[in-house]
Amino acid sequence: MKIIMLGAPGAGKGTQAKMIAERYNIPHVSTGDIFRANIKNNTELGRKAKEYMDKGELVPDELTVSILLDRVAQDDCKTGYVLDGFPRTIPQAEILDQELTKLGETIDFAINVDVPDENIIRRMSGRRACVSCGATYHIEHIPPKKEGICDTCGSELILRDDDKPETVKNRLNVYHTQTQPLIEYYSKKGVLRDVDGTRDMKDVFDDITSILGQA
Ligand code: ADP
Ligand code: ADP
Ligand code: ZN
Repeated sequence: MKIIMLGAPGAGKGTQAKMIAERYNIPHVSTGDIFRANIKNNTELGRKAKEYMDKGELVPDELTVSILLDRVAQDDCKTGYVLDGFPRTIPQAEILDQELTKLGETIDFAINVDVPDENIIRRMSGRRACVSCGATYHIEHIPPKKEGICDTCGSELILRDDDKPETVKNRLNVYHTQTQPLIEYYSKKGVLRDVDGTRDMKDVFDDITSILGQA
């Protein structure tokens, strides 16, 4: 099963994608996580991507597309995957489609996690991310058992540089102009499904599993 997560930054795509990956036993592929791992390891890709990410802009397609295509060509993606944060532009979606067509494959579902802008800024300022394993928490809604420490691996939790309110505003603008058109793109293909992302994460996940089916 091949799934795409759509939604504004902070809508809960990553949170839901991780639950989908576990339930359906497919890899969770996040371009944001790939970039952050490269930044942490100080690679050339990481240094280039950081310039854009810190400003809340998109990393150029030339840097993003090949990374994603390499990742989904790996063996563990043969039975499917859940893409989180890709595609983010129409050209990215078109290239992905072209590659899938060559393989005789298609996207099964594009899940749009719908959350209004006014909820987003609040969510982002409360988001805390694990520096080591990428787990995500929220200081009010989904707190770690011990403040500032990851439940899964015990590492420190941080506020991402790009989650500061001024950067979030820019990311929302970028989302509305460059990414939101993908909703219509996947709707035309008949694979779009909307879920109300403002509810509790378990309720959102219940909606998603009723769309994807029991597995
Ligand atoms: P969020 O989970 O808040 O939506 P991500 O972790 O997906 O954020 O992405 C963080 C940043 O990484 C984005 O603001 C952007 O700069 C960059 N990025 C991630 N995926 C892509 C992509 N597909 N195309 C361009 N830039 C991307
Ligand atoms: P995205 O990947 O779309 O940027 P995340 O999954 O990282 O979003 O979620 C953004 C923030 O909101 C995180 O702090 C996360 O813990 C929190 N969050 C996710 N889903 C919900 C929910 N249903 N209700 C409240 N907070 C949530
Ligand atoms: Zn961790």
